[in-house]
Amino acid sequence: MRSTKIVATIGPASDEPAVLERMIEEGMDVARLNFAHGNADTHAETTRRIRAAAERVGRRVAILGDVPGPKLRIGPVAGGVTEVPTGSALVLTTRPVEGGPGCLPVAWQGLSDLVRAGDVIYLADGAIRLRVSATSPSDVVTDVEVGGSVASRQGLNLPNVTTSLPTISADDLALIDTGLQMGVDMLALSFVRSADDLRPVREHLASRKSGIPLIAKIEKPQAAASAEAIIEAADAIMIARGDLGIELPIEEVPLVQKRLLVLAGRRAVPAITATQMLESMVNSPRPTRAEVADVANAIFDGTDAVMLSQETAVGSHPVEAVHMMSQIARATERELPYGRWLSERGPQASNQHHAIAFGAVGAVYQLGLKAIVCPTRSGTTARLVSSYRPRAPVLALCTDTAVMRRCTLLWGVRATMREEATDTMDLLEECAAAAVEEGLAVKGDKIGITAGLPPGRSGGTNLFKVHDIE
Ligand code: PEP
Repeated sequence: MRSTKIVATIGPASDEPAVLERMIEEGMDVARLNFAHGNADTHAETTRRIRAAAERVGRRVAILGDVPGPKLRIGPVAGGVTEVPTGSALVLTTRPVEGGPGCLPVAWQGLSDLVRAGDVIYLADGAIRLRVSATSPSDVVTDVEVGGSVASRQGLNLPNVTTSLPTISADDLALIDTGLQMGVDMLALSFVRSADDLRPVREHLASRKSGIPLIAKIEKPQAAASAEAIIEAADAIMIARGDLGIELPIEEVPLVQKRLLVLAGRRAVPAITATQMLESMVNSPRPTRAEVADVANAIFDGTDAVMLSQETAVGSHPVEAVHMMSQIARATERELPYGRWLSERGPQASNQHHAIAFGAVGAVYQLGLKAIVCPTRSGTTARLVSSYRPRAPVLALCTDTAVMRRCTLLWGVRATMREEATDTMDLLEECAAAAVEEGLAVKGDKIGITAGLPPGRSGGTNLFKVHDIE
């Protein structure tokens, strides 16, 4: 079993049922829909296709809706794409025009107030560099220092500028509602700047009676600086290295990645490492050695999940990219610093749930447990056990399909459904039977079981049993 989870972005290269099926067979655990592109109907159709493909393959796949948040974007461009030649002049305007050679619209009135002559602006994920030469109330005139192609609605980055854009726009809230209606399992919020940015989203979700997990994308220097508070406030984080590498000097990105993974790991908050992990596979069937090392190093740094973006959304080899991720993860997991993670993260065990999870993972090493079985109502026990990185599979037994799907993001966790047991002895027997059914243990093996006494209460885990399979 592979423990590191694979998130793959679905796009035109991967939204056909046959491709989705093969990606699931190769190990896609979470399918990411980028709500910055497409519309509600196409996302709803893709959701249906993912669910149907997962059903046919017989694997659990979660769906992640990625909400654009306060990202500055250019507006529509005639024909979808335009060239921005090096050495030419380019005007960014707040006038409602269609973009084309020499002029691109930006739907944010505050743009010219924030930049001054000499400032740098990036387009197309940092590929295009502009230098501001003059501003007027509606226009920002720039010289194109590094040119390229730019497509409709692509992002625009102003490094180190804090915009007064609202954290969450009415459009974002509408996308969140669309995602909830489609039944996505988790939401990611882009361009979070501080922990406070999550509050209006939580309030909105509460008004919809939704407890869907919220993943904070760390892609601004301000977010990296406030990482502790954001990690406390979020259900998971994504290290969104694409925008982070534009907003920060690119050489800082590996250091920020390592720091965020340590902070999230200590707090048992799952982390996704994202962007350009196997970028050359957009065109090539084989990745570069450097990309393979990047994926392996993120796993060594303690990431829960690795993410594919362009590789699976628009690349020529989406199935091979998932296969390669899986191969790298399996090889890397043979040599991870399991004991070090347990001892570094263990001292954070500050309540009974942490203490039980810590003890259960310690017992894997002391007693050679073949699996840890966690009956879990909210997924919390499975998450805590996962955070101590047991070198044995964790089987989460869930009573709620939504919780079961959320568990797919957790390192080392396999989740399945079960009936709610009312008697603790029955519960223990059910756990043992489930471990055998899932092929994780056979007669004579020892497993660990976490449970709550009395059964049936959320947050009630207070028991750990070493169980002999008979
Ligand atoms: C990123 O910037 O790395 C990222 C994952 O965000 P997006 O794909 O939304 O640009």
